[in-house]
Amino acid sequence: MLKKIALEEHFSGPGFEHYLQAVADSFDPGVLKAIEKLLPDFNDQRLATMDEAGIEIAVLSQTAPGVQQERDTTFATKSARQNNDFLAEAMRKYPNRYRGFACVALQDPRAACKELERCVKELGFVGVLLNGHTNGAYLDEKQFWPFWEQLATLDVPVYLHPGNPYDKPHMYAGRPELNGATWSWTCETSTHALRLIFGGTFDHFPTVKVILGHMGETIPFYLWRIDSRAQTSTAGRALNKTPSEYFRDHFVITTSGVCAHAPLICSLTELGEDNVMFSVDYPYEDTAAAVTFIETAPLTQTVKEKVCYLNAQRILKLQNVYA
Ligand code: MN
Repeated sequence: MLKKIALEEHFSGPGFEHYLQAVADSFDPGVLKAIEKLLPDFNDQRLATMDEAGIEIAVLSQTAPGVQQERDTTFATKSARQNNDFLAEAMRKYPNRYRGFACVALQDPRAACKELERCVKELGFVGVLLNGHTNGAYLDEKQFWPFWEQLATLDVPVYLHPGNPYDKPHMYAGRPELNGATWSWTCETSTHALRLIFGGTFDHFPTVKVILGHMGETIPFYLWRIDSRAQTSTAGRALNKTPSEYFRDHFVITTSGVCAHAPLICSLTELGEDNVMFSVDYPYEDTAAAVTFIETAPLTQTVKEKVCYLNAQRILKLQNVYA
């Protein structure tokens, strides 16, 4: 079995349990109950599942939506800090199995920068994971430039994870099946990613890296059309590079929650073998299905090793892990 690093793996810490209610309506209650049981566990089930899958390291993150939907900025900032301390404790207990993505409250961008610095420099976190917009504010807004500056300074990636749309567009009316991971989260997250490209974020911060889960939230499949149609709009023509050039230069993706070979091959073809990483999306997705998918993928051993752990090792600077 191939060894693996998985990096969209979620937990829930004390005081965060209630946030899950915000996404409850997109789950069958029975399914949600099973997930809720697995989220706070760091010892038994999680490690056993990782062992069976050959996952040597899981990069953990607070599950969506978390503090980004909090209206009270002071509370959100304090809560994010507590959450990071809690995760750091789990990392200390299992130093060979867990790494962490920081949770930050972007309601106060300056405080979020400070917290990210503390997480990376003092707690050994490998980056930050954001659950989409923060109370309707997107990362291409100028108020978040200090945050991008901090990411560049610390040289760590931001994982742009789905969250609920700020408001429910009319196109979903009467069709609750489209909420959540089935469709609305992908729409929300890919749109957020494209806002960064068209908003010029990467012209200002040319070294930053964004990680997208769920096989790039459909963008790899669609790059040609985005390029082509950008050339027919005034704003698109004004970009310094084509949208796909920005995407290839600044985004890497994970396979989380998409266990099908055709989109994997598409993503590897569009983005290259150095920019796709295995992940599960535990405990929302079936780890065994993710393992079978990647172990049976029609790829050379070299490419499989890159996808399973070498790319994550390089991008998250985990070089010492297999030393
Ligand atoms: Mn996830």
